[in-house]
Amino acid sequence: MKYFSLNQKAPSVSFREAVVNGLAPDRGLYFPEQITPLPEDFIENIDQYSNEEIAFKAIQQFIGDEIPEETLKTIVAETINFDFPVVPVEDNIGTLELFHGPTLAFKDVGARFMARCLGHFNQQNPKKVTVLVATSGDTGGAVANGFLGVKGVEVVILYPSGKVSDIQEKQLTTLGQNITALEVNGVFDDCQDMVKTAFLDDEIQRILTSANSINVARWLPQMFYYFFAYKQLYRQHKHIVFSVPSGNFGNICAGMMAQKLGLPIHHFIAATNVNDTVPKYMENGTYEAKASKATISNAMDVGNPSNFIRIQQLFDHSFEHLKSHFSSFSFSDEATKDVMKRVYQKSSYVTDPHGAVGYLGLETYALKDDEFGVFLETAHPVKFLDVVEETLDKKIDIPKDIEAIIQKEKKSIHISTYEELKSFLNQ
Ligand SMILES: *Cc1c(COP(=O)(O)O)cnc(C)c1O
Repeated sequence: MKYFSLNQKAPSVSFREAVVNGLAPDRGLYFPEQITPLPEDFIENIDQYSNEEIAFKAIQQFIGDEIPEETLKTIVAETINFDFPVVPVEDNIGTLELFHGPTLAFKDVGARFMARCLGHFNQQNPKKVTVLVATSGDTGGAVANGFLGVKGVEVVILYPSGKVSDIQEKQLTTLGQNITALEVNGVFDDCQDMVKTAFLDDEIQRILTSANSINVARWLPQMFYYFFAYKQLYRQHKHIVFSVPSGNFGNICAGMMAQKLGLPIHHFIAATNVNDTVPKYMENGTYEAKASKATISNAMDVGNPSNFIRIQQLFDHSFEHLKSHFSSFSFSDEATKDVMKRVYQKSSYVTDPHGAVGYLGLETYALKDDEFGVFLETAHPVKFLDVVEETLDKKIDIPKDIEAIIQKEKKSIHISTYEELKSFLNQ
């Protein structure tokens, strides 16, 4: 499969190059040149197939012959070897729990898939690739876990000292092996700036790549969630509406890709916190990027969602076309806490702040009689322990694996300046 740059000023590349480059040289996001719908009888009988078979069928055309079929099957099977249940919450509402992977957030799937693809491509390469990534919380843990022990790949994670939760910090500082955590004296934006500077610095002697959702190998496998949810629901429910808590809009955009492959998804809702660039765009047709604001659903604190351009591409840059399939609403922290309480009181279901924003999206959309709403629970409530316990006035059980990580010893290297990052990378 060939990928072109959405800025149209760089040559098309193979899947392999798209994964290794991350972003095109013209700073555009890569997008597949063709999208071929899956056979109708496959979709109609999707509950006859295993998750592994479905995921393989969904992703295969985007890789083509660049990874041998048997290898790709193994990569897919290893990527998704945990559950993706739709849990009933109300008569016409369920939640798709995406937190059953090793770091308890949905980013595990993309990180695990990308790690295995990069590991495969880099097998014969004597020169190691370094994945350099800045994290405000969840990405770091998922990337560290996904790439742990992958041959030919080093991972360097920058995180802001004192600004991530204890569990998140332990998830990225206790693994060792090919994972190094750099604890930056500063905020997330400082980490991000250092990473960007390193990518543009000719004096860095390593081959660098990025592992955020602009990378096609992290973005595309997120399609799987929508197939798995549909498989569990379509025999009972006619019209399925997904509400996706959104920040960089990679997850929801992957859902739209699943729709493009023929999955009959009735409607998409992008639910955001007060970072409302897309809800505002859907209101008045003007896209205005803003600086991000801090909220309790911090994995969605994004003022200029990088994947929105891919959504526009999927809808042929037609505002009317997009509007008929897609709604977007923004919610405050107060509304989020309030709904966390209400859902718990009504259904005894504990949402994390991100999932709660998704639930709010369904409320505002107002489901019709023949519609079934699914909000995505993108992280386990335990990852946001303080907010959840305080809001619900209730203790949350900590899963055993997390308990074990909390006991482990943190290892990080403190840095304060870009020069320190550079000398670390060049040593
Ligand atoms: C990353 C993340 C999101 C936002 O996903 P996007 O693909 O960036 O829209 C939502 N919830 C959680 C818990 C996340 O970690």
